[in-house]
Amino acid sequence: MDANANIAAADGVNLGVAVHEVTTNAKMGAISVTHVAQASCPTTCPLLRAGCYAELGNQRFVTDRVNVAADEIHAAPYELALRESLAIRELTGKRKLRVHVVGDCTTAGGARLVGQAMVDHERKHGQPAWVYTHAWPEVEADDWVGARVLASVHSKTELYSALSMGYRAFALATPRHLTRKVYSFDRLDVIPCPAQFKTRGSRSTTCEHCRICQNVDRLATVRRVVGFEPDQHTNRLIKRHGQHAGARWTDLF
Ligand code: SF4
Repeated sequence: MDANANIAAADGVNLGVAVHEVTTNAKMGAISVTHVAQASCPTTCPLLRAGCYAELGNQRFVTDRVNVAADEIHAAPYELALRESLAIRELTGKRKLRVHVVGDCTTAGGARLVGQAMVDHERKHGQPAWVYTHAWPEVEADDWVGARVLASVHSKTELYSALSMGYRAFALATPRHLTRKVYSFDRLDVIPCPAQFKTRGSRSTTCEHCRICQNVDRLATVRRVVGFEPDQHTNRLIKRHGQHAGARWTDLF
């Protein structure tokens, strides 16, 4: 994934934030990305430092690096957001930007900083920037100051809670996709992420070429949510938690 990519930060030092001009992540394609230490994540997440997807596979190398750096300086979420926003501004803006491959903004002030940097990224060359957030119970959609943000939810009930916080676009953790077409889950119309399918051994598309998540206005208009099925690592976690903790599979996202 991004383990060998250059690490950029506001002051040129990795202080809990890694921003890559071009990721090597096969699912995303040639786009820019940000990674922020998990000290920025909601403490309510059941997988925080306990098997989150960002702690698995090649991604764990980047996650470990930003986590260690942030832990050394006891970085607070707002401080991480400030560093991230400055690092985003160092990007060329010539590529799409996926914010928070790992990390989140759990404070309104942090969301404002990162959201404004995302909006300004788009102004450079018209390339969309987008982010998913699990922190929607604490941070209102307006706090993202117009950035493209999708609330990550696990059920229709959560979706309505996020709606009350002003969110209009949603990412939903689903079980295995039933089909490549739009399908119904928990009485929601789900667009399965096309990058999770392969055609003749090759990934069907990447975020570089797909616009589904970036088109938050369209998602709101058609009232559809973007669905993500668990990968192999997460499936193993589901089985383990199911056996040992009695957790719902949706607790794992
Ligand atoms: S739906 Fe499209 S933009 Fe969203 S994650 Fe999947 S490939 Fe990327």
